[in-house]
Amino acid sequence: MLTDSLHTLIPKLPAGLLYGGDYNPEQWPEAVWLEDARLMQAAGVNFISLGIFSWAKLEPEPGRYDFAWLDRVIDLLWSHQISLCLATATASPPAWFARLHPEGLAVGRAGDRFTHGSRQHYCPNSVAYRQASVRLITQLAQRYGRHPAVALWHINNELGCHINACYCDVCAAEFRHWLRRRYGSLEALNAAWGTAFWSQIYGDWSEIQLPNRTPTLGNPTQCLDHQRFVSDGLRAILLAETAAIRAVVPEAKITTNGVFTMKPADYRDWFQHCDVAALDCYPDPTLGLVEVRASALCNDHYRCFKDGLPFILMEQVTSQVNWRATNVLKQPGQMRALSYAALAHGADGIMFFQWRASRAGAEKFHGALLPHAGPDTRVHREVVQLGRELRSLTAIAGARTPARVALLQSWENHWALELPSKPATFDYGRTLAEFHTPLWNRNIALDVVSPDAPLTRYDVVIAPVLYVISPKQADSLRAFVAGGGTLLLTYFSGIVDEHEHIQLGGYPALLKDVLGLVVEEWQPLPPGASNGLRLLTSAPEAPAVPCHFFSEVVHPRGAEVLATFTKDFLAGQPALTRHRFGSGEAYYLATQPDAACLENWLADLLASRGITAPIQAAYGVEVCLRQGTEQEFLFVINHQSDPAPVNYGAWTGSADLLSPGTPVAATEELPGLAVRLLCRPRNK
Ligand SMILES: [Zn+2]
Repeated sequence: MLTDSLHTLIPKLPAGLLYGGDYNPEQWPEAVWLEDARLMQAAGVNFISLGIFSWAKLEPEPGRYDFAWLDRVIDLLWSHQISLCLATATASPPAWFARLHPEGLAVGRAGDRFTHGSRQHYCPNSVAYRQASVRLITQLAQRYGRHPAVALWHINNELGCHINACYCDVCAAEFRHWLRRRYGSLEALNAAWGTAFWSQIYGDWSEIQLPNRTPTLGNPTQCLDHQRFVSDGLRAILLAETAAIRAVVPEAKITTNGVFTMKPADYRDWFQHCDVAALDCYPDPTLGLVEVRASALCNDHYRCFKDGLPFILMEQVTSQVNWRATNVLKQPGQMRALSYAALAHGADGIMFFQWRASRAGAEKFHGALLPHAGPDTRVHREVVQLGRELRSLTAIAGARTPARVALLQSWENHWALELPSKPATFDYGRTLAEFHTPLWNRNIALDVVSPDAPLTRYDVVIAPVLYVISPKQADSLRAFVAGGGTLLLTYFSGIVDEHEHIQLGGYPALLKDVLGLVVEEWQPLPPGASNGLRLLTSAPEAPAVPCHFFSEVVHPRGAEVLATFTKDFLAGQPALTRHRFGSGEAYYLATQPDAACLENWLADLLASRGITAPIQAAYGVEVCLRQGTEQEFLFVINHQSDPAPVNYGAWTGSADLLSPGTPVAATEELPGLAVRLLCRPRNK
């Protein structure tokens, strides 16, 4: 199982790496389709997402289906050896749906109902939408489910990316049903929600409303449950559409495309119901390495959703998007570099929105594999070059990314942490990035996993701001440390239970014994404010390291103090501690240190465990290892525009799959945006 390729698990997929994008033939006269198929084949495209927004063409009137044009498209693509991720086509209901079922349109937080004229305007819990979707999908599955070209099904599209929570009466009723299933009784709900506060006690289920119109702070547990309900409601669409396909074709394989690591959707949960995880990722080129790292963090999530199984980068853009205030181009070579970065982090498919750039509609300025100016263009030449390269890299398919470090993340923690009325305004995504960045900068692989995941496979676990810790998670972390693992837990962790009720007796409540300390109170630091942190091993004359955002009053109960604060009433009190527990060590960081200090400290900690980069390379050069059964592959990607030094160390003399016949030298100045892909037999 460990090196199964997607092709092994989803046999109708093309062997090797997937390459292609969304194809929307309904935007074009039929005369264009043959040119499309020929150009796709010439570009090395072997996989297409088809029909994502085709509902209105497939079902022009309720119950009247027109599949003749799709028959011709599918046969044309298949005759050019192009396999399909066939969409359920449900992302954008036709105009007749809005006319016949106005109650099926979503309602915004302020109570206003959305209209037809954009996309994804349906209420997630609308019975009419669900029924119309299932009718269409049943027709599609009956007609195409066993077509040799249809390898995978593309469920809906970016579920919840525009409207995740709907505030209509149907959704309110569904929320009450969801709560009944969760709690069983109003007594249990009242206890979980702490409704004794502010006289919120419920005596009848009908009294419970959606949390959209409160004068001030809403009940936090109600808000948290609403976020769980929203994620579950969107997942219900995924499950219903999957069931409609499998009712006709039980062996059908499915996926859906997640959007980055979008907060409203617990993708870790969702993708357990899919055969492969798929990601839409659109880094902003204006932000440089910040967005390269953000993409890497997304990739690390998606690789881990299916326990290391390769994922598909389902959408990216060749050049520029159309939906930011200023839409900067990816510079020449940057699309290729970012595509290899996705492969480096575990993707086995490189896909784009969309094949041919639109003439009309809301995304006509969104980049494509085939730009408005046609095939004789810089962008399309890069597309053809990448396609040619990927065709030669079949050996990579199925290779895994070994990681000895885990970064803990959970949607439950994200939702609870960012509810209002906290000591500070938390941004969980930013905090995760602050702990991911040091490892990315040092080219140390990490997995992003749930606090519920098995941890004993890792040597080091980093848990930033793990605000919610369940007893089971605490036991897992305790066993991990006791068994010899190294845990880094940070400020504002272990504060509440699953109902967002405070764990009494000092923090981090369930892990005080593991950390050997108790946190008594906290002192948030407003924007611009800072404290200082001094490592006790640093020279007395060394300046203190600035730390920001948060500080805490920590009382050691067996933990060794490694660093202290330098200012205010916290001066001299612990900022960083270490506690030996069982065979392992638990570190506690009571503030957010300056990024350089955190990176150096973490790098030293990991090096002391023998965890280092595969080779030495300058800042901005990404180095990632993937391991197959017989071979291993080292991706070396210079994300900067300027040449950067790389020392290939033990990889010197290895073959570069992108420059066959020229073994890599010991050192070089790797040109800007250049990629090397080294290969050698695996030393097992
Ligand atoms: Zn609704």
